[in-house]
Amino acid sequence: MKNEPWLTRPHKTKEVLQKYGFRFQKKFGQNFLLDPHVLDRIVAAADLSGDDLAIEIGPGIGTLTQYLCYHAGRVAAIEIDRNLFPILEETLSDWDNVEVIEGDVMKLDLESLIREKRGELTGVKIVANLPYYITTPILMKILEDNLPVDSVTVMVQEEVAGRMQALPGTPDFGALSLAVQYYAVPKIAAHVPPNCFVPRPNVGSSVITLSILPEDQRIPVRDADHMFRVIRASFGQRRKTLVNALRGAPGLSKKDGSAYAREEIEAALEELSLPSSIRGEKLSLEQFARLSDRLLDL
Ligand code: SAM
Repeated sequence: MKNEPWLTRPHKTKEVLQKYGFRFQKKFGQNFLLDPHVLDRIVAAADLSGDDLAIEIGPGIGTLTQYLCYHAGRVAAIEIDRNLFPILEETLSDWDNVEVIEGDVMKLDLESLIREKRGELTGVKIVANLPYYITTPILMKILEDNLPVDSVTVMVQEEVAGRMQALPGTPDFGALSLAVQYYAVPKIAAHVPPNCFVPRPNVGSSVITLSILPEDQRIPVRDADHMFRVIRASFGQRRKTLVNALRGAPGLSKKDGSAYAREEIEAALEELSLPSSIRGEKLSLEQFARLSDRLLDL
């Protein structure tokens, strides 16, 4: 019989924080979850089972961690703030399927960690209420490192979730949308108001699940790094036309190191049946892939 998570009873969270005289550290993006309904929504979106290893980034005082312990086979939780360790020792003491790992998620070798902790479990799912100051770098590290994970379910700022799920031609569409949608299928599972956290953040939040695409189901492209250089250049100067944004963009060049010329970019667009006046925000991921392949030949 498994223990029920108990930390979300509001008086318990306060009790724990007071007992340890815990001081929130702004620099670590500490906004702890209070609301059990939100925790239910997160674990439902993550679709955890006893066959899964759940990796949590930033367990805080262990509120979401308890839910992960309840629903997953095993949990590995990575926390940077040492002051939380004595608290986690108490709040997670009922569970024998969790390990708290001290470290900065940006510096850890996550692939080795997964290999080491996975054992006989079949699924690997990342689940977290992310520290908002490094949301995008954490997600890009997970995606670009091609980690062997099935999905990533995270609480992020509402506006960032919107950008991840945005489609071409909409105001939120940009380099983040394309990067996320190359590696995964994003789906917003819930919107969460500031009063579900302590302390309250200044902005609304969303839970989003990224279902990771196997490599053979991604948009085919000859050189993904080159495509992302084209994408970054296109959105680096958003108000320019694509031709002007790519012409002489820093970090983007032909094989011989020279910059792409206006006529070359216009010819590549014409081959894709796109007007030379088009802006990057109108192109789909597929069109960026074709454009990148064409430019690569020059
Ligand atoms: N999971 C807890 C919850 O939902 O109540 C806490 C979430 S809080 C938004 C973010 C957590 O990430 C904090 O515990 C913070 O100390 C931790 N954190 C911040 N930066 C980190 C980093 N670079 N590596 C690992 N953990 C980090």
